[in-house]
Amino acid sequence: MSHTKPSSMATFKRLLGYVKDKKIGLIGGIIGMLGYAAVDATFLYSLKPLLDEGLTGKDPDVLTYMPIFVLVIITTRGIAAFLSTYCMAWVGNHVVMKLQRSLFNHLMHMPVAFFDQRSTGDLLSKITYDSNQVANAASNALVSIFREGATVIALLCLMFYQSWQLSLIFFLVGPVVGLVINKVSKRFRTLGHQIQDAMGSVTTASEQMLKGHKEVLMFGGHEEEQEKFGSVSNSVRRQNMKMISAKAISVPVIQFLASIALAFVLYLATFPQVMETLTPGTFTLIISSMFALMKPIKSITQVNNEIQKGLAACDSLFAILDDNPEQDTGTKVIKRVAGDIEFKNVTFTYEGKEKPALKAVNFKVQAGRSLALVGRSGSGKSTIAAILTRFYDGIEGDVLIDGQSIYQYPLNNLREQMAYVSQKVHLFDDTIANNIAYATGDTYSREQIIAAAETAHAMEFIDKFPQGLDTVVGEDGVMLSGGQRQRIAIARALLRDSPILILDEATSALDTESERHIQEALDVLQKDRTSIVIAHRLSTIENADEILVVDDGAIIERGNHQALSEADGIYANLVKMQQVAE
Ligand code: ADP
Ligand code: MG
Repeated sequence: MSHTKPSSMATFKRLLGYVKDKKIGLIGGIIGMLGYAAVDATFLYSLKPLLDEGLTGKDPDVLTYMPIFVLVIITTRGIAAFLSTYCMAWVGNHVVMKLQRSLFNHLMHMPVAFFDQRSTGDLLSKITYDSNQVANAASNALVSIFREGATVIALLCLMFYQSWQLSLIFFLVGPVVGLVINKVSKRFRTLGHQIQDAMGSVTTASEQMLKGHKEVLMFGGHEEEQEKFGSVSNSVRRQNMKMISAKAISVPVIQFLASIALAFVLYLATFPQVMETLTPGTFTLIISSMFALMKPIKSITQVNNEIQKGLAACDSLFAILDDNPEQDTGTKVIKRVAGDIEFKNVTFTYEGKEKPALKAVNFKVQAGRSLALVGRSGSGKSTIAAILTRFYDGIEGDVLIDGQSIYQYPLNNLREQMAYVSQKVHLFDDTIANNIAYATGDTYSREQIIAAAETAHAMEFIDKFPQGLDTVVGEDGVMLSGGQRQRIAIARALLRDSPILILDEATSALDTESERHIQEALDVLQKDRTSIVIAHRLSTIENADEILVVDDGAIIERGNHQALSEADGIYANLVKMQQVAE
């Protein structure tokens, strides 16, 4: 995966945009950090009177106040530290929550094509791992940087105030330290991206194994999966080690540079001319300040990698947030369409494919009538349904419902008009009742749900569960058979009572016996609705008002069952073949 790298500043500014309404926390945090730095500086500053006046006996009062002073200082320091940690963590966690929520919402509004090109594992890792990296950077690392940064500044001021000549030496080393930090930051950032990509691969590899566990068992894919996972987990380890070694090298290097300055000051102090201008207190103060500088410099270098990882994570999250969601520009809201459907010369090619999946498809279905699509698998039947539901945009030609282009309706409004039952029914990890009434809120009563389930012949098996409609179906409905899920999907469609019905091999998971049963339910479902039925078993569509035979993206035959059977074309052949098979 390649990353275009926006500047740290741009990413940081955008991240700050998420902090806007959390100013109070930010102010509290800053007060805490400044207080912390001030206390540290005051403590060091107190060394001077202690040495010059207290210990020399000039002013014995200093010694009396010292114990109280120490307690007050340490207490204040503790309060300031708590305030800065708490406030910044509060701000940081709010940022992450907001980021996670907007990512989640954004993903929900992405077009189907977006998901075709990405692995679920990768996206999961972005929501969980990457956003946590931002949390780390925002709460822990920012606290350190600001708190220690303020301490460094306070200490430098203190030193300058005491002897600017000696302190100047620190500034000779400063730019070199800056250069090293800059170099290291870039490296951290790159490694951060690599670690996040590697984490994505780990989630993907795990997900592949977990979802395909039965296949792994049956085909003996253990070793293959183990190898795949072994290699991605090793790559995470290697990237992490690179990060750790970069960090482990940078800290001593920067401390070494700082110690050069310290050594130089000590060396200068041996000159009598310098010695004369300093009291023992001033000298101790400068040396202690320099030593005290080591710790914050170390922690700034240390947390720099967290910050860079966080910024790298922000980059990748912002990139997704900037990706275009589904185009939803239609404004013609309609309460309930009559259900006239027309495909006008529709040609469509999937992204990344050369051959069109649909070629100049033309057909009309009048409101309340039924259209059947038959043809080999891969001929383009499901694609026709996906164009109608606007799962894929970017067609040539036009699709009309009630004489109005479907692109003129708001997406929600358009999809409300259709019920879609496919061969792959997804059930949510919830009760059967909630699955049937999915996303309808309180619109439907319990009685209506039961009625729908009864018409779909679903009540027959639902009643056998001890908890009936309130049985939780497990992730993706693992507790149910294919036919049972299909019946729940049909109940869903019945309940919503949409004017247009799309059945994409809706009975393919059923045996002939149950199919006959469910066919009754489907017949009820199709009544008074426009329906598009994609069927693998021709016997189920004999009564359709019109049958289209799709081949290689084009419609090659059309007519009703009677006419097509007599025409001795492809349809007639298919019918014969299925009769022989049965
Ligand atoms: P059918 O439902 O008739 O079996 P589809 O409409 O699913 O056929 O597929 C038609 C063609 O489009 C096939 O060649 C298939 O490989 C291709 N296709 C289907 N879905 C996608 C997709 N998401 N991305 C790219 N190509 C696809
Ligand atoms: Mg299909």
